[in-house]
Amino acid sequence: MSVSATERPTRIVVDLDRIAGNLERIRAHVRVPVMAIVKANAYGHGLVPVARHLEASGVERLGVAFVEEGIALRRAGIRVPILVLGGIFGPQVGQFIAHDLEVTVSSVEKLRQVEAAAQALGRRAVVHLKIDTGMERIGVHEYSAGPFIEAAVASRWCRIEGVYSHLACADDPDSPMTALQLERFLEACAHFDRIGAPMPLRHLANSGGVLHFPGTHLDLVRPGILVYGVMPDPASRPTIVVEPALSLVSRVVYFKVVRAGRTVSYGASWTAAADTRVVTVPLGYGDGYPRALSSRGRALIRGGSHPIVGRVCMDQFMVDIGSASAWNEDEVVLIGRQGTAGITVEALAAAAGTIPYELLTGFNERIPREYVGGNATAA
Ligand SMILES: *Cc1c(COP(=O)(O)O)cnc(C)c1O
Repeated sequence: MSVSATERPTRIVVDLDRIAGNLERIRAHVRVPVMAIVKANAYGHGLVPVARHLEASGVERLGVAFVEEGIALRRAGIRVPILVLGGIFGPQVGQFIAHDLEVTVSSVEKLRQVEAAAQALGRRAVVHLKIDTGMERIGVHEYSAGPFIEAAVASRWCRIEGVYSHLACADDPDSPMTALQLERFLEACAHFDRIGAPMPLRHLANSGGVLHFPGTHLDLVRPGILVYGVMPDPASRPTIVVEPALSLVSRVVYFKVVRAGRTVSYGASWTAAADTRVVTVPLGYGDGYPRALSSRGRALIRGGSHPIVGRVCMDQFMVDIGSASAWNEDEVVLIGRQGTAGITVEALAAAAGTIPYELLTGFNERIPREYVGGNATAA
């Protein structure tokens, strides 16, 4: 990591080659096309650079949550098909069509909104029908899917590219919920055959489905977190070996000796039992580094793993290095490897009492992203 005089010493380093490698391994495992999910700033890794590298690596499709994310990708010149997964907000429908984004249609009423917008623009909308098989989030229940599918098939202004549902429990390989959802989904899809309509792309598998339930792979898979090299859940089985793409690094900005009996940080929640060396790191919950890691997180400095002591502040926290040595400007690793030591996203999320998804997407724009690998496609 180079130290620039103009940027914060704290940064997220994303290895694009690892993202491409993970995509390759997922692809080899599922043997169907992949829609890589890049919502929420590509799970904190940076929307446009990651999407650009995935496109260069041959991903068939991309998925985002909101139309704004899709528009940002189109403005950056991304050309692969992009599906917006979220529920549509009526007044925005025209934006999907204007930017060549595929729309999730989750009710007959939404279908009518999309048709009206498409007709007004004189361009057919490309849609994926959303079936609710157990999430109870968005979509038409599988037991009501018949009339919904018929209305969509009859629509002059919508081209049905896909039909999909979302799994609630696939990160747990032992949950019976996934088989039930698959059965309900296939029953809904069968309606296309019953009415003699062409079968669109059927897709169901998130990362958990990709890892644990081959029956859910169908015509297309939608992995998110696995693309970034992170397991969806501690119970997940590594049927595909992926490598984490993200590191979070900072630098020591202050060194001091804290005398026995003195307390550290807000609330004076940690007291030095003996004289000890403490360094200050310029990263805090204002960057998305969870305050829940107060006196729980760890930092790697000079190859050693040391505890965060006292409360994590908005912009800084303190690390007790005991009798070890450290100097100002020394590298501090919060996620990733340093020498033989390492801190994984999974372990850090567990220490913070959250899940890798929330931890990763919480890192905000205040932390500069640096890209390595990928032949600098992300410059
Ligand atoms: C977020 C999301 C995914 C990806 O989920 P992962 O668990 O990260 O693989 C897939 N499909 C839908 C509809 C989603 O919202």
